[in-house]
Amino acid sequence: MSEWRLIAALPAGAIVALIAWRARALTPSGAVAAMVVGGLAVAAGWPWAVLLVVYFTSSAAVSRLGAARKEKLTRSIVAKEGARDAWQVTANGFVFGVAALGSLATPYPEPGWLALGAGALAASAADTWATEIGIMYGGTPRSILHWRPVPAGTSGAVSLVGSGGAVLGALAVGFVVLLVGWGIRIAAAALVGGLAGALVDSLLGATVQSRLWCDRCGVQTEREVHDCGRRTEPIRGIPWIDNDLVNFLAGIAGGLLSLVIGR
Ligand SMILES: [Zn+2]
Repeated sequence: MSEWRLIAALPAGAIVALIAWRARALTPSGAVAAMVVGGLAVAAGWPWAVLLVVYFTSSAAVSRLGAARKEKLTRSIVAKEGARDAWQVTANGFVFGVAALGSLATPYPEPGWLALGAGALAASAADTWATEIGIMYGGTPRSILHWRPVPAGTSGAVSLVGSGGAVLGALAVGFVVLLVGWGIRIAAAALVGGLAGALVDSLLGATVQSRLWCDRCGVQTEREVHDCGRRTEPIRGIPWIDNDLVNFLAGIAGGLLSLVIGR
């Protein structure tokens, strides 16, 4: 471990977070969380930093894809949109940060840390790409649970196009893993872990994730105050399990499966 990297880590993380905040991809609290994750990545070595930057910029780009139309489709359903806050960054970046820290603290090369970090990132990328591309081009999705049509943007909704998006997202992370020289085994582990993570995300989203109800509009939503102004009531799922927690759990699942395959 070279010392200049440790010294450079926090300023480098801060610069990236500042750019993301200026580009309105992060809220101020999200930028602080990103600075920590980014700092850990830079400290762990340039491949970690490259993976994180490619993941973040590609996710932000995919999220911008037709943002106006998407907003119209999902405004009354989705809880948060646009800039990511601290909890969202943590939900998507925690396992990757732990893996970077583990790699940093391990004096010998340990592929398990690489697989854990890449798999968690792939799970997050697969979920983001599936959601964004699915909402844009997937038409009316179906619930992964009972296979009935549900509105676009509903948690646990799947479509063929969205699933294709998940494959693209996980493949993209696997490709960058190859580019930074972590090898085919870690790349394959990240791909499989990423897809499994996206599946876990959909399953949890369709079952335990809290679903709220606006009785003025008669629709399901994830917003605590609906866009019509009415306070919503819980109708399904477990009240404290929100989309961020589901993302967090999916990242752990994807990362751990990738770890088992990759080490
Ligand atoms: Zn309403």
